[in-house]
Amino acid sequence: MTVFLVGAGPGDPGLLTVRAVELLGSADVVLYDRLIPPGALRHARTGAELVYVGKQGGGPQMPQEEIDRLLVEHGRSGKRVVRLKGGDPLVFGRGGEEALRLREAGIAFEIVPGITAGVAAPAYAGIPVTHRELASGVAFVTGHEDPGKPGSALDWAALARFPGTLVFYMGVRALPRIAERLQAEGRPADEPVAVVERGTLPGQRTVVATLADVAARAEEAGVKAPAVTLVGPVAALREDLAWLEQRPLHGRTVAVTRARAQASPLAARLRELGAEVIEAPAIRTQSLPAEVPDLSTYDLLIASSPNGVRELFARIRDARELAGVRVAAMGPGTARALREHGIEADIVPERSVAEGMVEALAQHEFQRVLLARGKEGRDFLPDALRERGAQVDVLALYETVPEPLDEDAVKAVAAADYVTFTSASTVRHLLAAAGTLPDTKLASIGPATSAELRAHGREPDLEADPHTPDGLVDALLADARS
Ligand code: SAH
Repeated sequence: MTVFLVGAGPGDPGLLTVRAVELLGSADVVLYDRLIPPGALRHARTGAELVYVGKQGGGPQMPQEEIDRLLVEHGRSGKRVVRLKGGDPLVFGRGGEEALRLREAGIAFEIVPGITAGVAAPAYAGIPVTHRELASGVAFVTGHEDPGKPGSALDWAALARFPGTLVFYMGVRALPRIAERLQAEGRPADEPVAVVERGTLPGQRTVVATLADVAARAEEAGVKAPAVTLVGPVAALREDLAWLEQRPLHGRTVAVTRARAQASPLAARLRELGAEVIEAPAIRTQSLPAEVPDLSTYDLLIASSPNGVRELFARIRDARELAGVRVAAMGPGTARALREHGIEADIVPERSVAEGMVEALAQHEFQRVLLARGKEGRDFLPDALRERGAQVDVLALYETVPEPLDEDAVKAVAAADYVTFTSASTVRHLLAAAGTLPDTKLASIGPATSAELRAHGREPDLEADPHTPDGLVDALLADARS
């Protein structure tokens, strides 16, 4: 069996490679370090054995011999083993040593490169490590050893002469000595230096200084590991190229409470706008054992949510049953879900609520209506259509059930700047999971959700209009600007 030495990238979960995700999904055993992206292990399959081999608390790192022993032992057992390391496995990751141990033991391996922190953290800080006029080379250097100790492996004179950017890893504690030695060997005191802390992770910080004052500036700012230090004229480009901090939700934390499967597009959108997103899926949807009747006997099908569409199409025997049926989608997300199944909705109300649907249907004729939705839907829509003389069948395809939130998730939600609610059930379930509604800004997707908040004694701070995830994002942007 093969052991995979896999780089997990610098921290942003989006910077894992496709190959890394694929291998995590098929591994029997994952041996992982401390500096891997949050949530990376979610890609591992249920039942995979997850073995932590990093620093124990703030204490010492598990000895390398022990890690090597575990790698060889698991490798020999015939299991599929992923050795997951932060950044790139071969850049200060001891991946080379581990590969040698595997070779000695006669175990096959594959190496999957990752995005190394020394390139990624500067990129997120708006600093290119090379530049046609400013740096024609880049050197990755360890700052780990004490540069003052006799017999230092680093040739400081050569480093000072290096015609390009120096990127120091593991150099926070040694920063004063690094700056001092480089100047002593002739690097100019006014050369720009950038220290990037927690690069690509929420809370990334960058301190820009010069060789002369970087140690003092980093100390003032309280810079801690993990951080990379860049020395070179390119560091000054940050002034023009910083982009992360420009994003409208930078520095804001937003908790997303909807079911995980539905949360991702909203979470992704918020992240792109610079928010730190806390995914707290207080609910999850669960299929119900419902039989879909012969669709060709209806003249109108109403789909009330993207999940309803997925559940419906998972059971449809023959899509041609829909040939003569008009289709209405409750909102743009539901219309998108229909489009994925080759159905263009005939009716999408302007307001994505039951009331909006009733208005949109006012000018249409129909007798038999099938409403495909979740079990907890309100009676308003079927009642209103029946009043108009239609025969309405409600097909409950799924239900939302509470998802237990652990204590850390509850705390993280309470500390967020905003908590978003995308349905009345997210309010109820968060309340059930956390005991109380958090004392932060509450953002509601629409009137039904706001009513639920009021029923629990809280006035929403924001209400989306239109009542869609995009409308919710716009409401957050407007509030963040104010
Ligand atoms: N193999 C890793 C490096 C491991 S050494 C890689 O290729 O990135 C650990 C050092 O990497 C840390 O001390 C720090 O200097 C750097 N590092 C790792 N993650 C970082 C991050 N998110 N931001 C800044 N530096 C980071």
